[in-house]
Amino acid sequence: MKYISTSKQAEPVSFLEAMRNGLAPDGGLYMPETVPVLDKAFWDSISEYKFSEIAFRIAKPWLNNELSDNELQQVIETAFNFSANVHSLQKQHILELFHGPTFAFKDFGARFMARLFSEKAKKADQRVTILVATSGDTGSAVARGFYKVSGVNVCLLYPKGKVSPLQEKQMATLGENVTALEVDGVFDDCQRMVKQAFTDSELNRQLTLSSANSINIARLLPQSFYYAFAVSELKKMGHNEIIFSVPSGNFGNLTGGLIAKKMGLPVQRFIAATNRNEVVPDFLKGSEFSPKPSVQTISNAMDVGNPSNFVRMLHLYGGSEKAMRKEISGYSYSDDQTRETIREVYTNENYLLCPHTAIGYRAADEFRRETGSRAEIVTLATAHPIKFKDVIEKETGQEIPIPNQLKKDLQEEKKSIPMSSNFSEFKAFLMDQYRQ
Ligand SMILES: *Cc1c(COP(=O)(O)O)cnc(C)c1O
Repeated sequence: MKYISTSKQAEPVSFLEAMRNGLAPDGGLYMPETVPVLDKAFWDSISEYKFSEIAFRIAKPWLNNELSDNELQQVIETAFNFSANVHSLQKQHILELFHGPTFAFKDFGARFMARLFSEKAKKADQRVTILVATSGDTGSAVARGFYKVSGVNVCLLYPKGKVSPLQEKQMATLGENVTALEVDGVFDDCQRMVKQAFTDSELNRQLTLSSANSINIARLLPQSFYYAFAVSELKKMGHNEIIFSVPSGNFGNLTGGLIAKKMGLPVQRFIAATNRNEVVPDFLKGSEFSPKPSVQTISNAMDVGNPSNFVRMLHLYGGSEKAMRKEISGYSYSDDQTRETIREVYTNENYLLCPHTAIGYRAADEFRRETGSRAEIVTLATAHPIKFKDVIEKETGQEIPIPNQLKKDLQEEKKSIPMSSNFSEFKAFLMDQYRQ
């Protein structure tokens, strides 16, 4: 299998090369030349398979010949040492994706990618150094995902005083192969320093640098596994007509669902749910796709004004906007509506939703009322409510108990290294730390 760029200029490459490159050299995003389709017999009997077996069957044709079956199985078993879970409410199902180490769905992508990087390092006999600029969520999932994974170093840059205390604990207390730099600046400084490192020829002669941002193909693929898992769980309950509602920002999660459908997963349609950053719902309702500066909301992991994965979505529909609009419905909500939904679902169902998930829930509810659809709707729960403790406790008056793992994380000591926003200081640090 070869991977091509959505901008069509870059050379086709293998999966592991596409992972290593992150962004294609022509600025496009990698996609498989053709999305592999699994045989109908597999999909028909999907409820007989465990999560790891489903993941293996889906991933195998993507990594065709790059990893042995044994290696791929190992990657999957060690990456997914936590589970997804379907929690059924009165009128919809919640696919809980927050049982991993950082309590959000990004653990699926980050942990899978980390182990693939390790396999690649082993094959090339070369240590890789991953540079990540983060404003919080991605950094914690990546830090945790790569922690103690052999053959890979991670260097994270985050803006001092600009990430939440919990996020800082999750990425800056690890040590070992994960180094956190607390940059005296803003997120844009962190991003500028990382970008400059990738183009610095002296650095790239001495070190093998790579990135791990959310557009990486190795983070996208595992996000299709849990859609198939959810269908397998619903089939066990006797349901066959299924719609997914996906709280979205950069639209990687939803793209994972479209990929699963393309591979043959029986899904009726998708609901794209956003906060006030509503360029995709606007597009789906008939407007042109027109990126805007992002606005801040309480569902802040979805504050994206120019979603990168839109080009991948369009690519999957063969460039047809019409085809995309036919299969995906879009809804967007304000912070007040988000808060209202958190309250209502707590009152009526005794179930706590994080602000992102609340948006997905509300969109599913509105879609049902508008269309009268009798299909089962599965809303993806992207984060554990504990990550948004203050918002949720204020709305519900209910104190959320802190999971034990998190209590432990909160007691760890910060190990980050202070860094100015000056590139030459950063470069000297990298040379000193990682030169082989
Ligand atoms: C990243 C994130 C999202 C948005 O996912 P995309 O793939 O960017 O659409 C939603 N909710 C939470 C909690 C997230 O961390």
